[in-house]
Amino acid sequence: MESALLCVDITEAVLDEAIKLGAGLIISHHPIIFHPLRHITGGTYIERVVARAITCGIALYACHTNLDSAPDGMSRRLGNLLGLRNVILLGNPSPCDPRAGSGVLGELPEPMQLHEFLRHVKKILGAEVIKYSGGGKKVRKVAVCTGAGASMAGDARRSGADVFVSSEFRYNDFLDAAGGMAIADVGHFESEYCAIDLVYDIITKKIPTFALHKSVESVNPVNYITA
Ligand SMILES: [Zn+2]
Repeated sequence: MESALLCVDITEAVLDEAIKLGAGLIISHHPIIFHPLRHITGGTYIERVVARAITCGIALYACHTNLDSAPDGMSRRLGNLLGLRNVILLGNPSPCDPRAGSGVLGELPEPMQLHEFLRHVKKILGAEVIKYSGGGKKVRKVAVCTGAGASMAGDARRSGADVFVSSEFRYNDFLDAAGGMAIADVGHFESEYCAIDLVYDIITKKIPTFALHKSVESVNPVNYITA
């Protein structure tokens, strides 16, 4: 294998890109086979990608939850991007490694108004919109969980976070947040796009000469009309 392609999701466009680049491996954040496939008849994009990857001899690999909960994994990466300091684990540590687990808690160097903080997050992530609720006081302690992290809201609240940055919150989560810890739904893809740079850095550190490509076809499947 001469090179690998890094992406968030393996779509048909990403597979085409890998073929064009001659990459023998695609490393995605999300596993393309999330539910077992009963057949590969090309009825869905998943079946088409899997069938074509087999035909073209391209291996598909995803770290997903392991990368989420690794000590220097996804949430810590996002926390670093947002400029958090004194970053610690948010949820319960893994029984296998006390440094591993879901979500992180950190502090901003200076307290910020919630709006000011959210504009900062929007800019860093290149997010078109951020859905939020709650707040009213300045934010300093920030909880972060990449991907669908709504289930970590209780941990975030107990940790004393002023704001919880994640995605896939439900309507009731926004109601719960009113007047208390703010929640900021930055979007699933937006919160996990950092996976590409994270895996890139890990691999290039270990194998500096290996050719890695960051996919240009790995795009947000969710679109927004903003004007
Ligand atoms: Zn995800």
